[in-house]
Amino acid sequence: MSTTSESGAYNYDLHCHSTVSDGTLPPAALVQRAQEKGVEVLALTDHDEVAGVAEATVAAQEAGIQLLAGVEVSVSWSKQTIHVVGLNVDPNNPELLAGLEKLREYRHWRGEEIGRKLEKVGIEGAYAGALEHRKGDLLTRTHYGRLLLERGLANDMQGVFKKYLLRGKPGYVAGKWATLEAAVGWIKAAGGVAVVAHPARYDMTRTKLRRLLHEFIELGGVGLEVVSSSHNTNEIHTMAQHAVDLGLAASRGSDFHDPAYRWIELGRLPALPKKCEPIWTHWE
Ligand code: AMP
Ligand code: MN
Ligand code: MN
Ligand code: MN
Repeated sequence: MSTTSESGAYNYDLHCHSTVSDGTLPPAALVQRAQEKGVEVLALTDHDEVAGVAEATVAAQEAGIQLLAGVEVSVSWSKQTIHVVGLNVDPNNPELLAGLEKLREYRHWRGEEIGRKLEKVGIEGAYAGALEHRKGDLLTRTHYGRLLLERGLANDMQGVFKKYLLRGKPGYVAGKWATLEAAVGWIKAAGGVAVVAHPARYDMTRTKLRRLLHEFIELGGVGLEVVSSSHNTNEIHTMAQHAVDLGLAASRGSDFHDPAYRWIELGRLPALPKKCEPIWTHWE
């Protein structure tokens, strides 16, 4: 496993989370860790929020690495939730900020609803408990996951999701997130590039994934996250081929959340397959 990208001089990590969403490190500590792990260009991509970018930018200047403002937008598309990463966005763009704010309003209601549903299966004080695991203002299923783990209701995070938080399970609330058109539109309005995150993670046939990517391109999306910690070697190759076939640029991101998950580290990812056009050609 190589730690640097072969298609450029830099080690790019274009997907990670801070305490502003469901990461466990504050933005400055996250940037510091990225620098220690050899990352040279980092994009902070919190879920539905850009509030960590200011702190991360200052920390990156001190650490001597490049920080890109980013965001991971929650999208409902064809009855599924997908994630669209925006890279190199203007974090002060009013259209982007207004869109993300609406998403967080829904997220707030949905966070309470998850709590109500978990109460019904006997998990007392679920909402209040999840709030205690939150370090910023945003509540995600990850925070519920940490609560349920703490209460010994499963052995690991995967187990907690499988038992309580995935579709069909007691704490699941079907998402009503942004449309694909809106998400790509906000990112473009903010001068950024839109990238479909961790495509191999979606429970989709190849045909449906191609339909998603065609629609995404039509709306102005330009990138596919080919290299992700969610992807095995086969999936990287499959996604690289989709990117080449469709003329999408390829991105590379760890989706780092927490140093406790030692198998996912900032900047520690395979290089982009050689046939891919790197997403960074869009801003360099
Ligand atoms: P939310 O946006 O509130 O639905 O939370 C989604 C987050 O939950 C993702 O960004 C992941 O960090 C985490 N997550 C989703 N699925 C799983 C899973 N199967 N195992 C562990 N974490 C997961
Ligand atoms: Mn997350
Ligand atoms: Mn995601
Ligand atoms: Mn993510």
